[in-house]
Amino acid sequence: MQKIAILGSSGSIGVNTLEVVRHLKDQFKVTALSVNNKIDLLEAQIAEFKPEAVCVVDKEAAAVLRSRISPEVKVFAGEEGLSDLATEIDYDVFVGAVVGFSGLRPTVEAIKKGKRIALANKETLVVAGEHIKGLCSEYDSEMIPVDSEHSAIFQCLIGEHVNEISRIILTASGGPFLRFTKEEIEKVTVEQALKHPTWKMGAKITIDSATLMNKGLELIEARWLFDLKADKLDVVVHPQSIIHSMIEFVDGSVKAQLSVPDMKLPIQYAMTYPKRIGADFVKNNFPLIGTLNFFPPDKEKFDCLAIAYDALEAGGTAPCIVNAANEIAVQKFLDKEIGFTGIPALIRKCLDKIAVEKSPDLPTVYETDQKTRKLALSLH
Ligand code: MG
Repeated sequence: MQKIAILGSSGSIGVNTLEVVRHLKDQFKVTALSVNNKIDLLEAQIAEFKPEAVCVVDKEAAAVLRSRISPEVKVFAGEEGLSDLATEIDYDVFVGAVVGFSGLRPTVEAIKKGKRIALANKETLVVAGEHIKGLCSEYDSEMIPVDSEHSAIFQCLIGEHVNEISRIILTASGGPFLRFTKEEIEKVTVEQALKHPTWKMGAKITIDSATLMNKGLELIEARWLFDLKADKLDVVVHPQSIIHSMIEFVDGSVKAQLSVPDMKLPIQYAMTYPKRIGADFVKNNFPLIGTLNFFPPDKEKFDCLAIAYDALEAGGTAPCIVNAANEIAVQKFLDKEIGFTGIPALIRKCLDKIAVEKSPDLPTVYETDQKTRKLALSLH
């Protein structure tokens, strides 16, 4: 029996992970769960999965939950509670599905325990990739990607050598505004941006998908996961989201991983790797799929993708600046304080104003994140 901790259990990755656990209940036992504030859902998850401990980031909600559940379940509270949970509770697999920068600290603690990290929180590698990869080798912690694109690359790499890769081709659905003109994109509303054509996800990642920043963050994530420089990282728009990503090798051969889109697939693979376990999550029907299309991404229309390449080029704390500015910009867009194209504009302003530091350690990353948020909040 393997023990599993799921941080971010109310989000789309968390809920899908619990569905996989339900399906593999003779192999996995949940020991820890966490949510930001959705305690009703967490209460139901506690009743079903009986974890040893949980964390609620919202401290008031944590107190309410504590009064509702058995005293045998340990309740941690606050951001610091996430790290304490990751440190104190026992598990074999750590699913890091918290959204945003706050996923970093608990993931660092899980790495220090030398556990398998099923990584869904891309920000961990975006903001501190170099340091995190170093920590993984120091503590012998295995990092298996959950992001569907990176899982695809990870699967295609089996039996291959990284030095024989000519490029990685990350596929992008293109988001809801793929065919919009530049003028139409400027007028995009929050409601339009929250409708994703193929994946059902939380608000932050849905907006990131619409701006293509999600693909940009994934490029940076891939840079560290697979230790490849920017010139070997490519993006192709593939609206059907059937090919989850591809590797082109030096001889011109291409390997791809395909399936009808369902996050339970990469989640289960990260949990059971190197084994594949039978599941009927998806039904692949190629005649029904019919056609697969590919387009080059339009970096002029989607400046966030260009920004991510610039940040990769600049290295150091540049991706951390981009990530923090993006988190604030997306919130401002959701709050209708700025327009859709205000998101990349605000990120560029932060990149211009904050000096990039090379090979940052964790304190530098935390400091850069704080500094950038402060600046981004003051800008329009
Ligand atoms: Mg993805």
